[in-house]
Amino acid sequence: MSTFNPTMLQGKVALITGGATGIGKQIAITLGQHGANLFIASRKQEKLEAAQAELSALGLHCHFICCDVRNSDEVEAMIAALLKQYGQLDIVINNAAGNFPAPISNISYNGFKTIVDIDLLGSYNVTKAAFEACLKQQGGNIVNITAPFQNGGASFQAHVAAAKAGLDSLTRSCAVEFGRQGIRVNAVAPGATGDTEGMERFAEASPEYGVNCPLGFVGHKSDIANAVLFLVSDAAAYITGQIICVDGGSSVDLLKMGQI
Ligand code: NAP
Repeated sequence: MSTFNPTMLQGKVALITGGATGIGKQIAITLGQHGANLFIASRKQEKLEAAQAELSALGLHCHFICCDVRNSDEVEAMIAALLKQYGQLDIVINNAAGNFPAPISNISYNGFKTIVDIDLLGSYNVTKAAFEACLKQQGGNIVNITAPFQNGGASFQAHVAAAKAGLDSLTRSCAVEFGRQGIRVNAVAPGATGDTEGMERFAEASPEYGVNCPLGFVGHKSDIANAVLFLVSDAAAYITGQIICVDGGSSVDLLKMGQI
């Protein structure tokens, strides 16, 4: 049973990019289970169809559209399709991202650019299109899914760290500019999160990955989704421009003494 009131998002519409898989799908499920109507978007139709079927089987109301967030025309078309379907948009979750662990010497010029294009520019495209099409008139919530490691050096993640550092900056700038329009903009930074492709890739490279946090266990997708749910709820009405790490304390354990 949820800690939160199951009707708290009744009448709201939520867009989740990358909402067909992993953390994004769990965010969709959690927002849907608290009353939101859902719209998920990513590149691959088969993943979206499978997720829609799964969400519908849970009794949730979900539509989808294929969209590459790197393409601003596709993003504008996605927002238009959502508004045609639901007539409103209240919650935007910028979750779509790419990732592959690699040392800087093995990241190609194009590989680095691709990650920045998806994680940072893609989130900007969606934010801008949603703001112009509706949020600036009616207010709403934006939550960017970032990461906890970009404030330090991040081996094997230089490309992602650079993109997510930009996303953190975008989060704060949007919060400052959009506040008077009734739009709150925050970010959630997942640590190692179990049962995700990202986690699997890192666990292959380093079997201890994620376990060595102060809380001593790998997080669940529902931990991330619950933080998102809190941020889009009225309980967070005075919170904007914040980046909440949901990482078992990894980001504050600079000396890693807890592991000794
Ligand atoms: P995931 O399952 O790989 O999800 C990424 C999603 O983004 C996929 O559904 C993918 O769908 C979509 N996507 C990729 N490129 C896209 C594009 N150009 N346009 C539209 N959609 C695109 O990843 P995840 O592990 O759940 O991660 C979700 C978020 O959490 C990401 O922002 C990630 O950086 C962050 N995060 C995850 C972890 C972790 O431990 N998993 C840790 C820190 C941060 P298509 O292939 O259909 O496009």
